[in-house]
Amino acid sequence: MSFRKISAHKIYPISSSPIENGVIIIDENGKIIALDVLDKHDATTVEFFNGVIVPGFINAHCHLELSHLQGVAQTGTGLIDFISQVIKNRDHSQEIIQDAIAREENNMLQSGIVAIGDISNTTDTFSQKRKAHLHYYTFVEYFDLFQVQNTANTIEQYDAVFNALLETDKNKKSKVPHAPYSVSKKLFQHIIARSNEVDSYLPKTISIHNQETMAENELFLHKKGGFIDFYERIGFTTEAIPNIGQSAIHYALNFLNKADRNLFVHNTLSTKEDIARAQQQLGADHTFWATCPNANLYIENSLPNYNNFIANNSQVCIGTDSLTSNWQLNILEEMKTILKYQSYLSFETVLTWATLNGAKALGFEDVLGSIQVGKTPGLVLIENMENNILMANSVSRKIV
Ligand SMILES: [Zn+2]
Repeated sequence: MSFRKISAHKIYPISSSPIENGVIIIDENGKIIALDVLDKHDATTVEFFNGVIVPGFINAHCHLELSHLQGVAQTGTGLIDFISQVIKNRDHSQEIIQDAIAREENNMLQSGIVAIGDISNTTDTFSQKRKAHLHYYTFVEYFDLFQVQNTANTIEQYDAVFNALLETDKNKKSKVPHAPYSVSKKLFQHIIARSNEVDSYLPKTISIHNQETMAENELFLHKKGGFIDFYERIGFTTEAIPNIGQSAIHYALNFLNKADRNLFVHNTLSTKEDIARAQQQLGADHTFWATCPNANLYIENSLPNYNNFIANNSQVCIGTDSLTSNWQLNILEEMKTILKYQSYLSFETVLTWATLNGAKALGFEDVLGSIQVGKTPGLVLIENMENNILMANSVSRKIV
């Protein structure tokens, strides 16, 4: 067995304190054998990189199958217009779809992403996922838009997608609800009941889009606003939408289960109280909050207030969302945005969001998320930082 010694100006293991001029010893499979300091090693046996080394990034929320739709939706029009534009433009030839999937997977890999929580409404990404270039947690996403007369058909349609994907060590899967504003009680009950079936991957991760726009809260607080207008415009009945007099996350909390890891995505409008309530019911240690800041800026021109998560000691992780709502699928770019607009947060805090917290959310923390003996996390070099601060021209690339 041969070993490599890899060093840089600073190493962030995440599971332990940063090491100035640290050395990481890995085996030929990239498994971490030891962490040390440069002084103790003959410099000619060490590969030295200019910059900082961090564990492979975890992209906790992506829609890889939408990669061919880059630039289709206009920025700043709000979520409801965004959804309408994506539905209108979704269909393309398989050749175009498959090319974009392979291209964007490779871009993510090169920039240091090692695992993806990926939403699938179709089987389009499955042949690429089978190549196991990255770890995937595939969330097969169900929605019936409250048209309960069609719920049985919806279930049949997405069950077929779910069954087409095989599970392996690098490829996990679960059935998930799309969002509070698009899933009926009947469908919620079906999905969550299914998620508790006894099988080899318990506990499962249940991902759900949450509180991305004002209209979503308005829908459940008063059964009024943009979503009611949207449903009426497309000729859909709103009869099965409940008026619960509470914000949208409370509707989902009627169905979500403490036995699962629950991953709320976006949370742009989640209040301190919403977050506390969810963590209290579902257990703070296996409740996760994915933020996709560039997508929030793209669609709604707003960002979550991260103080709400800090105040609740929440486990925040980071996603890119899809290329329909982002300029690139790159976790370092998401970190830059967070630190640009809410610079009270430290690089190290946001780095933990981008690595270990995402690995926990997807159930990959045994192998990924930190530079720790026995793990195979992938090693990422970040170049062009100044005084431990990310600059506009900082870049990341996978070195192991
Ligand atoms: Zn999404």
